[in-house]
Amino acid sequence: QKLLNDIEQLPPDALFGIRQRLSQDSRAVKVDLGIGAYRDDNGKPWVLPSVRAAEKLIQQDPNYNHEYLGINGLPELAVGAARIIFGENSNALNEGRVVSVQSLSGTGALHLAAKFLSTFLAGRPLYISEPTWANHKGIFQSQGIKTVPYPYWQASTKSLDLDGFLETIREAPSGSVILLHACAHNPTGLDPNEKQWPAILEAIASKNHIALFDSAYQGFASGSLDRDAFAIRLGVEKLAKVSPVFVCQSFAKNVGMYGERVGCFHVVIPQQDEARVDISKINKAVASQLSKITRSEVSNPPAYGAKIVSKILNTPELTEQWHKDMITMSSRITKMRHELREKLIQLNTPGNWDHIVDQCGMFSYTGLTSEMVKRLEAQHAVYMDSSGRASIPGLNQGNVEHVAKAIDEVVR
Ligand code: PLP
Repeated sequence: QKLLNDIEQLPPDALFGIRQRLSQDSRAVKVDLGIGAYRDDNGKPWVLPSVRAAEKLIQQDPNYNHEYLGINGLPELAVGAARIIFGENSNALNEGRVVSVQSLSGTGALHLAAKFLSTFLAGRPLYISEPTWANHKGIFQSQGIKTVPYPYWQASTKSLDLDGFLETIREAPSGSVILLHACAHNPTGLDPNEKQWPAILEAIASKNHIALFDSAYQGFASGSLDRDAFAIRLGVEKLAKVSPVFVCQSFAKNVGMYGERVGCFHVVIPQQDEARVDISKINKAVASQLSKITRSEVSNPPAYGAKIVSKILNTPELTEQWHKDMITMSSRITKMRHELREKLIQLNTPGNWDHIVDQCGMFSYTGLTSEMVKRLEAQHAVYMDSSGRASIPGLNQGNVEHVAKAIDEVVR
């Protein structure tokens, strides 16, 4: 018996497994509602016009090169990224209380958060929504952080279990870490509304908990960067009086550069009661610790996507184009939500389908059972996650009718 012979083979990652089965499916009409990536109305990946324009500008630059970035990444990216997430008038930013470093997209930012928490704020449980993005558990548990679910999705009403959510926050040990989806909750597509957010944040403040925002869809949910940053900005205002606030920011979806791995991790330093405390010293200390983590793991973050996003954020005409691009994406998704619902109503499909249009962002938690999802794939070549989560950008004028008829068939 040789070393390695006993290693257990794990099943493929659920979503990447869907992609594999789909690519081997020879049926003429097949629909991918699995992985969360934007598609245009022809079902094709979309390179944003703002990205194309930024690429052109970067490559025309006589100093264009592929040198390493610094360990904490491209400073202009981090500054621009902080501005869009915290807002132009953010007190925390104006007071120098935000440390921003580039990360390996949103996943890398979450990993930095996990490392930072397990090093400097050890022993605190992390509360995650039930359900949540499948990777959250793995990222934090791999750093020895205990994860505890909080109620979120109420299946019977297909709405937010606000009471359960608040109760769990109030019962959590003081100083716990609460992971919040900033907008476009994955997988449910269900966000707290602007009246529910203050209640959630107040409950967090009342126990001196620490908020960790995961922002993977800013601008992608509503088409507006400001609207989609509402919870984060309110959270910083209410919570960073006492506790730090962490923000993990991905540019995968809103810039459509999934594979280039552009993101940032932000640490908001709490307001200080004593004037003699030197904020810039804390700021530099935190930045140096983050750089130590990055150095030993990835050495320095990837440059190409960072240069493009930075160009977009720091060139007014490109920023304006980007805002239009986000509206193009979010409005096509909204349109497909409405078309799917209308078609299901026309077919008299049993059940209420309002939640499809009430939810926002990339996903809809359809309420279909795993048995129904299996049948969708087997009988109709419509692929989605076994939880019933459908990636709405996979719908288009050419396939929405097929999908509606397939859903109609499996729910009857
Ligand atoms: N957080 C959430 C909620 C997500 O849905 C995703 C991607 O699907 C991410 C973080 C991380 O994405 P990435 O690492 O591609 O930026």
